[in-house]
Amino acid sequence: MKMTIIGAGIAGLTTAIALKRAGFDAEVFEAAPQIKAVGAGLGLAPNAMLGLQKLGLAGKIIPLGAKLPHFSILTARGKVISRNDSAVIGEKFGLDNFTIHRAELHDALFSELPAGSVHTGKRALDIEREGDNIRLYFADGSTHDTSCLLIADGINSALRKNWYRMRKCVIPVTPAGVQ
Ligand SMILES: Cc1cc2nc3c(=O)[nH]c(=O)nc-3n(C[C@H](O)[C@H](O)[C@H](O)COP(=O)(O)OP(=O)(O)OC[C@H]3O[C@@H](n4cnc5c(N)ncnc54)[C@H](O)[C@@H]3O)c2cc1C
Repeated sequence: MKMTIIGAGIAGLTTAIALKRAGFDAEVFEAAPQIKAVGAGLGLAPNAMLGLQKLGLAGKIIPLGAKLPHFSILTARGKVISRNDSAVIGEKFGLDNFTIHRAELHDALFSELPAGSVHTGKRALDIEREGDNIRLYFADGSTHDTSCLLIADGINSALRKNWYRMRKCVIPVTPAGVQ
């Protein structure tokens, strides 16, 4: 079964890698016209690092960033709200709190996927389900049919706002090997 993912952000790319490791092909559709280095510092807590470790990626990603033994949360005016000793959390989980430039993480994830599996310039506008088929409609006028769709289009997901129609697109499938 070929999986379809909307959004080539951190979640979309990581999911595509996880599916690949589980033996599935995944195609990713990304709205941006090209995949390029964007962003600034990103924090990865031990639970995120554990996920990357399970995918066999921690060894590749750790040298690209830095440990974060402690951090503070400040208001916009610089007043400290909380100070956190993340070394304690690190000891508990056996993995350090970690910080990395988003672009480095994104590049490292992108380079794990087969060439041609991420399609850029594909902004998904709508989804329709007919039987076991889900049809995606893109802003460039093209369509894509799939039987398994994962949406990872970020916190401002335009597709999620269309939740009622999206629910009609949920097909209960549990492909072998996916847990
Ligand atoms: C360009 C960018 C820069 C960021 N920089 C930082 C940073 O410096 N520091 C930080 O802490 N966090 C940053 N973030 C946020 C952080 O990466 C995310 O909050 C976090 O990684 C969650 O990842 P995500 O994959 O769920 O969503 P996102 O990383 O937001 O990725 C969603 C992806 O979906 C694509 N997309 C959205 N709508 C559609 C659509 N309709 N069709 C197809 N594709 C679509 C977007 O272009 C994006 O690539 C950034 C996010 C983005 C998109």
